[in-house]
Amino acid sequence: FWETFNAEMRSQFNEVSYNAWFKNTKPVSFNKETRELVISVQTPVAKGYWEQNISANLIQSAYAYAGIDVYPVFVVQQGGEKRSERMVEPQKKESQPVRTTGPEPVSAGFNRDLHLNEKYTFDNFIQGEGNKLAAGAALAVADSPGTFYNPLFIFGGVGLGKTHLMQAIGHQMLEERPNAKVVYIQSETFVNDFINSIKNKTQEQFREKYRTADLLLVDDIQFFAKKEGIQEEFFHTFETLYNNQKQIVMTSDRLPTEIPDLSERLVSRFAWGLQVEITPPDLETRIAILRKKAESEGLEVDESTLDYIASQVDTNIRELEGALVKVQAQSTIQKQDINIGLARSALADLKLVQKSRGLQISKIQEVVANYFQTSVAEMKGKKRVRNIVIPRQVAMYLSRELTDASLPKIGQEFGGKDHTTVMHACDKIARQMKTDTEIKSAVSDLRQMLER
Ligand code: ADP
Ligand code: MG
Repeated sequence: FWETFNAEMRSQFNEVSYNAWFKNTKPVSFNKETRELVISVQTPVAKGYWEQNISANLIQSAYAYAGIDVYPVFVVQQGGEKRSERMVEPQKKESQPVRTTGPEPVSAGFNRDLHLNEKYTFDNFIQGEGNKLAAGAALAVADSPGTFYNPLFIFGGVGLGKTHLMQAIGHQMLEERPNAKVVYIQSETFVNDFINSIKNKTQEQFREKYRTADLLLVDDIQFFAKKEGIQEEFFHTFETLYNNQKQIVMTSDRLPTEIPDLSERLVSRFAWGLQVEITPPDLETRIAILRKKAESEGLEVDESTLDYIASQVDTNIRELEGALVKVQAQSTIQKQDINIGLARSALADLKLVQKSRGLQISKIQEVVANYFQTSVAEMKGKKRVRNIVIPRQVAMYLSRELTDASLPKIGQEFGGKDHTTVMHACDKIARQMKTDTEIKSAVSDLRQMLER
């Protein structure tokens, strides 16, 4: 898996960044039970970068590859390069793996598996135009769970703070009621757990786990799309909790009505409480977020530089944070204080990246169809003949590589195919590129055309 993942990342980063973040980074161990994947990185800076920018990809890839959730844990290599030690302000030696997504031990035993990011608190959440409604609702829910907005449904684009807000509710609740049972779950994990529970005949435990929660947080619920069995199961979980006045919070990248084949009764139940959208932050908010972030990292960044960085990334807060990390890394490497000139050069390649991120799947389909002399309609269709299957799979692969779209979203754009079909296509092309030079050069030609 590590090889596949590296190949994937190699194509997404330029050579310099790839070497900076991936060379000398290796998996150390994987615990089958806790699914912790311990990864050794060379410097604290690299650790920060992985946590911020690469973890999510890793989790996704591992899921795509093996169908399981992994929890990456990063350790800084002992006796790493001397220089790197000086690169950051003194930091305690990390001899023990540090959980990144993982919890501090919490008092109640059943919260042992609770994976909340300790940074995702209300204190660390900056409110602004795009998120204040959602933040207000989340606070209200944390204060009086099960009372006002049940369920609370938070939706909006990637990297806008949905997971952060949702977990903040969990933190707050545990602070006030340490014995409350909080369950946070990625919807994919719910799906997996459910499937496993059937296989292993542990459905009782599965139900017990979810139906006894005081607060159930389900992240990215759009992945329940088209999964009838899961929806059925979740419906009963929902009913049980709701009837016991337990709080349910969900996030999604879109409204329930827009989730493909979400059952009527779930759609209507999700509307019983409050549905609130998070929209992209305005410049003011982005500056405030950066300022807070810089403070918490102990970085000295003047206002005009903050302003500059904030003006470069205008959609996604995860990328905004990534930009700051990049500037920080540059300053460390060049042993220079952070200023606007340094920020400018550190972020020079950002524009390009953003441009290709802005690519539409429809554009990819068009270019690929042209290249292989077939039509977009054929690619969206169902025919399984080779001269259509290959372009279709290549287009899926490129959609995955060059856009932020999720697997289900890509499937949808290809005439409503299942996300597993997309996953399979991506795997297949990635593998073929290793042996089949024709495919390899086609993909690389197409990539160049699309990135131009
Ligand atoms: P989503 O779940 O919507 O994709 P996340 O909650 O993962 O987004 O947020 C992405 C990153 O941006 C996280 O590191 C989060 O802490 C940060 N972030 C998002 N919104 C805010 C905010 N309003 N204030 C501070 N940090 C934020
Ligand atoms: Mg999220």
